[in-house]
Amino acid sequence: MRVKHKKWADPLIDAHPEAIVTKAEEVKGKWQDRFEKPQPIHLEVGMGKGQFIIGMAKAHPEINFIGLEIQRTVAAIALKKSLAEELPNLQLICGDGSDITNYFEPHEIDRMYLNFSDPWPKKRHAKRRLTYHTFLKGYQEILKDQGGVELKTDNMGFFEFSLQSLNNYGMHFDGVWLDLHHSDENEHNVETEYEQKFAAKGQPIYKLTAHFE
Ligand code: SAH
Repeated sequence: MRVKHKKWADPLIDAHPEAIVTKAEEVKGKWQDRFEKPQPIHLEVGMGKGQFIIGMAKAHPEINFIGLEIQRTVAAIALKKSLAEELPNLQLICGDGSDITNYFEPHEIDRMYLNFSDPWPKKRHAKRRLTYHTFLKGYQEILKDQGGVELKTDNMGFFEFSLQSLNNYGMHFDGVWLDLHHSDENEHNVETEYEQKFAAKGQPIYKLTAHFE
């Protein structure tokens, strides 16, 4: 999603250092201190406007959530929504998923979500896909040994690439769904903004869950 720069975005981010981090490398290894209580930490890379991560934080008070987004204005929209909810178990980061090992200590994260990541369909852009092996290496480093990755997308090309990439990396699959919304897995599903849009058009939603060890 590309959004137009909004004038209020930077001032809002600057006004809420308790809720959103812009220099995540300074919090490396200390994320638990930013939450009300220490609990497992789940991270979404590319949260967009935050619908999923806010929904998850509401549904799972026993987990601490972090939403990461590269576009400042988009992160500011997520911030605005999250402030209205006052969730003690949610923190946001404005930052880059390719920098993730600078933001988190090894094993600091328990679970990761990649939702409707940009598919980068051109072959020469494959390195930018969030499931390219260089990204997987970063995820492996920051995740606990038992930690898992969950991915949802509407894009068959990106899904196929991700299945191959995770498999070639030696990851183990816990589940693969080619029509999430018509499966048992949907029972506790928290929908993302993109997911709602694509599902409304009748497109099937693909999902996979996998772990490294
Ligand atoms: N997860 C949301 C948004 C999907 S769009 C949903 O499902 O509705 C993909 C989002 O990922 C965009 O907002 C984009 O800015 C963000 N993004 C892309 N590359 C990123 C990166 N390297 N680090 C962090 N966010 C990224």
